[in-house]
Amino acid sequence: MTDATLFGVGTVLAAGAVAHGALYRNSPLFGRALGRLPGAERAVALTFDDGPNPETTPRVLDALRDAGVHATFFLLGRHVDRWPDLARRAADEGHELGNHGWAHRKLHLRTPSYVRRDLAEGTAAVERATGRSPRFFRAPHGFRSPWVNPVAASLGQRVVGWTLGVWDSDRPGAGEIARRAVTGTRAGTILLLHDGDGYDPAGDRTQTAAALPQIIAGLRDRGFAFVTLGDVA
Ligand SMILES: [Zn+2]
Repeated sequence: MTDATLFGVGTVLAAGAVAHGALYRNSPLFGRALGRLPGAERAVALTFDDGPNPETTPRVLDALRDAGVHATFFLLGRHVDRWPDLARRAADEGHELGNHGWAHRKLHLRTPSYVRRDLAEGTAAVERATGRSPRFFRAPHGFRSPWVNPVAASLGQRVVGWTLGVWDSDRPGAGEIARRAVTGTRAGTILLLHDGDGYDPAGDRTQTAAALPQIIAGLRDRGFAFVTLGDVA
C-alpha cells in the first residue's frame, strides 16, 4: 500500500467515525447521550417527540391520564408556539418536558451558532408556554455534532437518545405499533414514540395515540413500571 492509499484509508475511517458520531443517536463520540435508563429495574420510559399536535397530543394525554402513567415529551418549539395550551396541559398533568429544538432541522452539519439558536429558541418556547425549563434535549433524528452536547449543557439540558424505536411514524397500524413496543421493550428501555410530525404541524400520529392503551396494558402485563426521565436521570 502506498502512503497515499494509507492516507485515503485513514481518511475514510475517520470520516466513518465522524458519521457514526453524527448519525448514531447514542454514540459517545460527540459526548454522551442517555441511551437507556440507569439501573437494572424493570422500568420503561415512554417518550413522545415532535408535538404538540392538535389531534394526537390530547388523545395521548387522555390515555396517559386514564392509565395513571407519566411520560416525557420532547416538544418542538415551533409547534409549542402554535399550541401552547397543549404544552401547558402536559406540564399541568405532571409529565416531564424535554426540548427537541425549535425548527427540527438535522443538526449534524449546522454551525455552532445555528445549533445554539435552535436549542435556545426551543427552550424559550417551552418556558413561555409552561413556565418550566426543560432538563433534557433530544436532537431531531438523534443527529448530533461536536456542538450539540456543550450547547445543551449550557442550557442545563442533558442529551437523550433512545433504546427502542418502533417506526410509529410510518403508520403501520395501531396494533402493530403496540406489538413492536410491547415485545421489544427490555429493562431500562427508553421507548421512542411520536405525538407529532417534525415537518408537518398537522401530521397524522393518531395511530400512536390509538396504540397507547395497548402499549401500557401490554407492558404492565410484562411487569414493567413506567418512569419519566426526570424520575431516574
Ligand atoms: Zn423529531
